[in-house]
This record gives sequence, structure tokens and C-alpha cells, in this order.
Amino acid sequence: MSSPSPSSAVSASASTSPSAASTAAAQTTLHVIYAQHDLVDTKMDTEGQGVNKPVVRKKHILDALQRAASGNGGGNITFQALTEPAPSLKPAERIHAPQMVELFATGFARWAALGDEGRDLYFSSAGRVDPPDWSELVPSQCAPRDPYQRPGNNVHSEVNYYAQDRMVPLTAHTSTILHHDLAVTETAVAAILEGTQKLVYACTTQPGHHSGRESYGGYCFINQAALATALLSDKLGKVALLDVDYHAGNGSMALFYRDPQVLFASLHASPDIEYPYCCGYSDQTGEGEGEGSTINVPLGKGTNWATYQPELARVLERVKTFGAKALVVSLGVDTLAGDPECAPLAGFDLHAPDYDAMGGMIRALGLPTIVVQEGGYLLPQAGETVRHFLVGATKDDVAEAKQ
Ligand SMILES: [Zn+2]
Repeated sequence: MSSPSPSSAVSASASTSPSAASTAAAQTTLHVIYAQHDLVDTKMDTEGQGVNKPVVRKKHILDALQRAASGNGGGNITFQALTEPAPSLKPAERIHAPQMVELFATGFARWAALGDEGRDLYFSSAGRVDPPDWSELVPSQCAPRDPYQRPGNNVHSEVNYYAQDRMVPLTAHTSTILHHDLAVTETAVAAILEGTQKLVYACTTQPGHHSGRESYGGYCFINQAALATALLSDKLGKVALLDVDYHAGNGSMALFYRDPQVLFASLHASPDIEYPYCCGYSDQTGEGEGEGSTINVPLGKGTNWATYQPELARVLERVKTFGAKALVVSLGVDTLAGDPECAPLAGFDLHAPDYDAMGGMIRALGLPTIVVQEGGYLLPQAGETVRHFLVGATKDDVAEAKQ
């Protein structure tokens, strides 16, 4: 399968520039924003650990969307390829600790500069091996959060403090990918705030919903969905963040737990049976001024659409009554039946048509919406699943456009 070519992507983008977009077009267009860089750097295909292949997933997603756009009825999908990364990761400090953001930006380079004498082998993903493997920086342990611990001023201390687990290595490509992902998020937010688009898919590479203010893990670095939510809320006031990834979005929940301006709602596998194991319980509903603005819906092993649909409908009713001015969706497709990351422990039992319905239900809210990519490990079906969700999200508009 081929990826969208830069030329076609750019021309599609040009046709939907702000000056050309009418109000009607804004209501009938799924606008896909993605970074062009890693589609041409095959070294990045190996990013991740185990079944986590974020660069490959992104390729499958873009391929599926491009096929949909070139087929019958796909004319309402446009693409915007970004070739320039964000100049700095500092905008992520809106939600993350500055020292953690700096770790993402420069941590691997600082670690590499320590040389063989300065690096501790326990921080290599391969551990104590001969010869050493210096390709992935992971913590040697994950520090429990108590009041007496803090990050020191060296990269080994920083990864030990900020990382929740050893599944998220910093590599030579991490900083580059995150700079490009940040550009995608900022462009998506601008499109919504400027009113040039109503439905934007921010096709970021790395997921983010497990990352909190001072923590990252579960394959996540910058919490792009939470950042988009915060930036929208700064301008619009009330915003809803809906998390439909299979795993509880512990980072997103923590970031908005006391924020009355953000409704955070998550449907996920029960923490009793799945990562992150210690967050996402139904009695976690927010606190302080944010009491009541967090909704957790833990679901059991093998949850199917018959169980999922009424729970989602109930959550969407809460989004309506909350009075959100915009919606951000953390879209994980690891709820798909047979997902290799989830099936060994529990797994859900959702299928392609269910994602059409899910997208349609969310689209029916009628809110300006940014969909941000989270997990999904059954490749290449993950790409088609995202397409089903996003096409479902435009189904009503397609019907209207044909009338
Ligand atoms: Zn997940």
C-alpha cells in the first residue's frame, strides 16, 4: 500500500484553505492533518516496543483514508500535510511540567552525549548485555510518587521520575516525532478556533492519553488530546474530552480532575483487569470545582457493541447537558476484537460497523470536533477501523451534501 504523496496531499490542502472554505464546506468536510516527515524515513518504522508500532499504524490510517477519499462519496475528505515541525515543544508546558517537556526534547541527545563511560546500562532497554544497546533510553525503575521524590538535574534521574513504566523508550527519533506531532495539534486547534473546519482528524504519531502533568507511560509522551482540549478551553470555555481508547486515560483524567471547564469522559476496560490498573474507577468523578465533570465508565472483558452503545449514549447525553462549545476525542481503536495488545488480558469485541455507529453518534452532537489518534495495535485493520469511525462521523453530512 502506498502512502498519500506529498503533491496530492498539498493540493487537497490548498482546496480547503481558510479563504476558500465556505460555511457549508466547513460543515461537510473531514479535514485530516498529519506530519509528512516519518512517511519517508523508514528508520522510524521500528519505533515503539512489542506490538506498539505508531509510525506503521499512522501509515495504515493514512492509506485507508486516502483510499476512502479517492472512492465514491469520499469527496468530503481533505488532507493537509505538514512538513515543518513545531519550532519548540514549549507549548506543551500548558499541560506538562517544563522539565518533562525538556526531557522529551533533549533527553536522548543528552544521554548519548554521556558516552559509554557516563551512561548506566540499567537505563538501556536491553539492560546488561554485551555489547551494550544504547538505542533506547528507559528508566531503571519507576519512582513511586511520594512527597520526598523529585527529578534531579540529570537524564537518568529525569526518566526515573517522570516515566510510569519501562514501555516507552526515548530514542533518537522521539524528539523529532514529537515536534511534528505538536505542529499537527496546534494546526488542528487553530482550524477549529478560526472556524475554517468543523471536524478535524489530528493524525498524530505517538498517543498521549496516559501522560499527565509529571508522568508519561503506556506508549505515550505529550498528551496531544489534552493539550488540544486545554488550548480550546482557554479560548472557548467549556470543552468536552471524550476518550474511547480501550485503556483508561489516566493522564487526561488527572490533568482535568479539578477543572470545571473541561468534561472528561472515558469508556475503557476496567482497571481491575487492565492497564493502567489503578485509575478509571466509576467513583472517580472529579474534585473541588471539578466535582462532577469527570465520568469514568469501566467495562468488562469482551465488551461488545450491545453493551458499549448505551453506555456511550449516556455519556454523550452528559456532554450535551454540560454545554461544551467544542469536543476533543481520544480515538483509540484497540477496542477492536482481536487487538493483540488487549486480547491476551481481556479485550473488547467491537467490529467495523460499530465504529461507523460510534462516529455517527459523536457527530450527532453537532460540536466543532478534533479527533486525536491514540492506540490501536491490530495492524493493518487499525487503519480501516479509524476510517470507519471518521466516515461514520461524516455520514450525516454526506447525506446532506447529496441533497
Ligand atoms: Zn489503549
